[in-house]
Amino acid sequence: DPQLNPNYCFENFIEGDCNRLARSAGYAVAAKPGGTSFNPLMLYGGVGLGKTHLAQAIGNEIKRSNPDKLVIYVSCEKFCQQFVDSLKNNTINDFVNFYQAMDVIIMDDVHNFAGKEKTQDIFFHVFNHLHQSGKQIILTSDKAPKDLSGLEERLLSRFKWGLSADLQVPDLETRMAILKKKMYTDGIELPVEVIEYVAHNIDNNVRELEGAMVSLLAQATLNKKEIDLGLAKSMLKNFIKNTSREISMEYIQKLVCEYFEVPAEMVKSKTRKREIVQARQISMYLAKSLTKTSLKSIGQFFGGRDHSTVIYACQTVEDLIDTDKKFKTYVQDIQKKLKMS
Ligand code: ADP
Ligand code: MG
Repeated sequence: DPQLNPNYCFENFIEGDCNRLARSAGYAVAAKPGGTSFNPLMLYGGVGLGKTHLAQAIGNEIKRSNPDKLVIYVSCEKFCQQFVDSLKNNTINDFVNFYQAMDVIIMDDVHNFAGKEKTQDIFFHVFNHLHQSGKQIILTSDKAPKDLSGLEERLLSRFKWGLSADLQVPDLETRMAILKKKMYTDGIELPVEVIEYVAHNIDNNVRELEGAMVSLLAQATLNKKEIDLGLAKSMLKNFIKNTSREISMEYIQKLVCEYFEVPAEMVKSKTRKREIVQARQISMYLAKSLTKTSLKSIGQFFGGRDHSTVIYACQTVEDLIDTDKKFKTYVQDIQKKLKMS
């Protein structure tokens, strides 16, 4: 199947909290296409989070263990285009028969069906035919079925039949693992602090993460330079400025805890030890002043606390900044470090 890209496999799809359910559901479907209750399997999430990779990995895995199975991967856009062409050429039956003969259909980015009533109509019939014959349907979308707009209710209700699993932004550890794996595959060795630097600073999607690394490698090759942390910092400055939307709470937590030499996970714990409480309150204060996160989400992030705790923390930090010179210096130092990144 030329439509399947063999580079998108399970082997190089790094697992993390961000994708655990989607990945294991995908794996189950790959092992027993049409034979699980995950039909359709809907993978949804934002741009560059691995929907296409995972959907293709399922297809590749099915082909690997059942070479005879007919697996088709098609983007929703292409499907719509093919439909229009078949109308023009009077080959609508061929078009429908082709898809209805498949054992597995993987349709990418079904949010693109929005507004295309006639194509949705055709796909509705294809869907029903395949589903009734126990064939596997895998869909991807930028939103959960309940949040999709512009799609017909009867199609949407079918999209909700099986399992919807989301792909979220990977946490720092997973981002590092993704970069390490990629460097390993490409046979490139990089100092771990370079990988950590890139993973810290590109924290909104995997495609940009990979893009930053590619750009860094390309520039270093052109300039015939070894990549160390200093070079990475200077080369990626612009890339990061243009892509990172804001400092993450994760990064605030890390820097604050490094600064006060306390274990990072402690700020999320229940402990009331003085230095931990201080690190926690400063982290909350910085999260409020440097990110657009709501008080509720800040409280949630720092150990499931409620928003009044965050307000109290911010008040305490502001009071201390006004009255305690040393404390003020601490906070300013950390702010400087955060902004340098
Ligand atoms: P989407 O379809 O959600 O926009 P893609 O599947 O195209 O995203 O992924 C973007 C890039 O990120 C691809 O190169 C993909 O291989 C990579 N990627 C995403 N998630 C992972 C992961 N968990 N492990 C390894 N690579 C990943
Ligand atoms: Mg995609």
